Amino acid sequence: MKNVLVTGGAGFIGSNFIHFLLEHEPECQIHNLDVLTYSGSLENLRDIEKEPRYHFIKGDICDTKNDFLVVEQNKIDTIVHFAAETHVDRSIIEPGQFMQTNIFGTYSLLEAARSYWSITKNLCRFHHISTDEVFGTLRIGEPPWTEDFPYAPNSPYSASKASSDHIVRSYGHTFGLPYTITNCSNNYGPYQFPEKLIPVIILNALEKKPLPVYGDGQQIRDWLHVQDHCEAIWTVLKKGVPGNSYNIGCGNQPTNLSIVEKICDLLDEMQPVSNSRRELIHFVKDRPGHDRRYALNSSKIQNELGWSARHGLETGLRQTVKWYMENPEWIAVIKKQIEYQT
Ligand code: NAD
Repeated sequence: MKNVLVTGGAGFIGSNFIHFLLEHEPECQIHNLDVLTYSGSLENLRDIEKEPRYHFIKGDICDTKNDFLVVEQNKIDTIVHFAAETHVDRSIIEPGQFMQTNIFGTYSLLEAARSYWSITKNLCRFHHISTDEVFGTLRIGEPPWTEDFPYAPNSPYSASKASSDHIVRSYGHTFGLPYTITNCSNNYGPYQFPEKLIPVIILNALEKKPLPVYGDGQQIRDWLHVQDHCEAIWTVLKKGVPGNSYNIGCGNQPTNLSIVEKICDLLDEMQPVSNSRRELIHFVKDRPGHDRRYALNSSKIQNELGWSARHGLETGLRQTVKWYMENPEWIAVIKKQIEYQT
């Protein structure tokens, strides 16, 4: 792992992963290929912009020729592919961009890796970041998904991610491309763009604005702290067996409503106000086709590679709420970015 290409490194998980890699891989050069869509921000990487081992390249992963040049010129031996359109609500309004980025963009990168690696025959790895949403939805009491559970994606977002997983796998089977895939559950933590549940609730609650909760709020997710996710990806890069996929989850099963209530309680404790912030909770019309429950069985990565999550939900949420409270400059820049885009 000498020259790593991170795609989508200006996004939430990608930027956390670059920070993680700089700390844990002192010898490697990190190249961040990101086109900077609405959800990407160089503000997430402001503290490391002068770091000599970090290099930013503005570019679209759908540009096949440029992908090859980036891989060739930087002698890339490891690709960690985060870049994607990621918000389910947007995939319902505008699915086309999801198909383009998530499917065609992944194909483009795979082509670049296949062409370059067939010349250099380096020890290399294409690591693809996927989601638990490819498995569909679970009823209460049904067992968590294992890696070999059949895919049944329900939204245009999850269908585009499922397609990209299949394409990655096909490049391994047909061309011998050394790949690994990880399917993770919902992430939370620092630098998450405020369109996803946890940052929306924290920012609205800080400003005493209504706290929107979809439907009855009884949807269940397996929340994973982004730093645990980064460590799991790193573990798979180091110890994972090419041709395998690994689930990454934490094993918790709170409802969305209980997460929102917990955030209110944490904020009330850290920054007391006269009325509890729970009074701001406001139920809104549910998302069409909203999956009810996700749960991952992560015993493969735990037993075979020795990874396990370090953050419990309680401590992870407390740390996350604190991070948003302590980073008003980041919030201000991201809000300006949102204003500029709308
Ligand atoms: P994000 O939306 O915060 O960031 C996506 C990044 O990709 C942005 O920086 C954006 O500019 C970049 N990007 C988008 N299109 C691009 C293109 N065509 N070329 C180059 N860059 C492009 O997303 P995230 O939450 O950090 O998610 C990262 C990955 O993890 C995605 O593949 C997503 O499907 C997966 N994932 C996320 C979660 C989660 O809870 N956030 C859960 C499971 C899986």
